[in-house]
Amino acid sequence: MIKSLLIANRGEIAVRINRAAKGLGIRVVQACSEADKDALAAQLADDVVVIGPPQAAKSYLNIDAILAAALSAGVDAIHPGYGFLAESAEFASAVVDAGLIFVGPSAETISLLGDKVAARDVANKAGVLTVPGSDGGVLDVSEACSIASDIGYPVMIKSAAGGGGRGIRVCATEEELAHQFPQASAEAKAAFGEGQLYLEKFIKSARHIEVQIMGDGENAMHFYERECSLQRRRQKVWEEAPANCLTDELRTNLCNSAVALVKSVNYKGAGTVEFLYDVRENAFYFIEVNTRIQVEHPVTEYITGTDLVVEMIKIAGGAKLGYKQADIKINGHAIECRINAEDPTKDFMPWPGIITKLQAPSEQGVRFDTHIFEGYAIPPFYDSLIGKLIVHGANRDEALSKINSALSALVIEGIPTTQLLHLDLSVDTNVQNDKFDTVYLEQWLQTHEFSAPQGKLARAN
Ligand code: ADP
Ligand code: ADP
Ligand code: MG
Repeated sequence: MIKSLLIANRGEIAVRINRAAKGLGIRVVQACSEADKDALAAQLADDVVVIGPPQAAKSYLNIDAILAAALSAGVDAIHPGYGFLAESAEFASAVVDAGLIFVGPSAETISLLGDKVAARDVANKAGVLTVPGSDGGVLDVSEACSIASDIGYPVMIKSAAGGGGRGIRVCATEEELAHQFPQASAEAKAAFGEGQLYLEKFIKSARHIEVQIMGDGENAMHFYERECSLQRRRQKVWEEAPANCLTDELRTNLCNSAVALVKSVNYKGAGTVEFLYDVRENAFYFIEVNTRIQVEHPVTEYITGTDLVVEMIKIAGGAKLGYKQADIKINGHAIECRINAEDPTKDFMPWPGIITKLQAPSEQGVRFDTHIFEGYAIPPFYDSLIGKLIVHGANRDEALSKINSALSALVIEGIPTTQLLHLDLSVDTNVQNDKFDTVYLEQWLQTHEFSAPQGKLARAN
């Protein structure tokens, strides 16, 4: 059992982990950068250790500083959250070498599944269909062109080490592929420290559907699926559970595939198996595994009545899965809107300002996961996510109407946010009718005029 835990992350997920750990009676130590000393996560922690300057490379990505903080604070375990070092095999292994528990899968599992080319192989071996594409990594332009002519254009160039929607390019012709390939390779090297690329057929009318899984090293189970097709720059902005477009039969196959895949590697911890559902072909294809808790986990918590962060901490402490598959049932429908400190009317320009007023709706079935408070100055160094508004209804229509009311009731003043985007999305006919795919939002944004004006703004100096 874990008695004390260092949180090596910031923002809403640090607050979320704190709440789960405190609920388990665990002492919480918050590792933070100098920019986050007064943040909510630090205020809520039993102890705070400053690990370095604001720049993530010197703090939240600094393995030595984080380990030193954990050892000096005398904790048993480290929770990496999402982003930063959450999917670093090097970090997971360093934590274990220091005699501590890493709240997540083993370093071996992270490096196997974190390499998207190797993960495709694992999926195929477990009998899970992957998107048609290259068998392994692609070395050069001529190999890329020859594979692409077999699978057919358009194709996608992807980076084996990619994440966060970055390093992905669509090529409609051989000329484009020949032109983009060297650039993609250089970019991947610069962004991820590793240049390996692979190819996938571009699925034109796809929905992003992913399965929440949990394993204890021996057994694994699923907590059903999430629909995350509303994306901008291949990053999710609005997520739902369950995916209403699936038939029960397809849902069962999809969830069982995800479980088969993670069982094949004796997965331990929380994870997500991501798929693309080809609407025209009525087929689903594996794309990747995220070996961590995901931003959108609350929609799954709502429909399954489970606390996934509590579960993952218990499993890291040596517990076996606290549920049987048959215990997990879908109850109603949940929707999450990511609220970012960005101005949707100005091409989503980040806006690190001061929160001058905050009123969050709090009725039954409404949850606002956040680290912001009145007077909080958003530091300019990190991701712009400032909160997640999540609702739970008896069915999708009720959830839609609830998210619209909650978005109307949410008051955040001082900065522009993506609340405006979500308000307009919640009344969009295609969103209401569940008629969208992974490119829908980008197309919608090209012609959309926002209905409500932004309030008074307060830039942080
Ligand atoms: P999820 O897959 O959980 O929906 P995202 O893909 O949006 O979430 O990424 C989760 C978080 O991790 C975000 O804050 C994102 O900015 C960050 N992130 C993801 N991949 C990377 C990466 N390769 N480098 C840096 N940050 C990343
Ligand atoms: P990341 O690691 O950056 O999250 P993913 O492989 O999960 O990368 O892909 C991110 C998004 O890019 C998907 O959710 C989807 O919208 C789009 N995408 C990825 N692969 C394909 C594909 N083969 N065809 C069409 N869209 C894709
Ligand atoms: Mg992904």
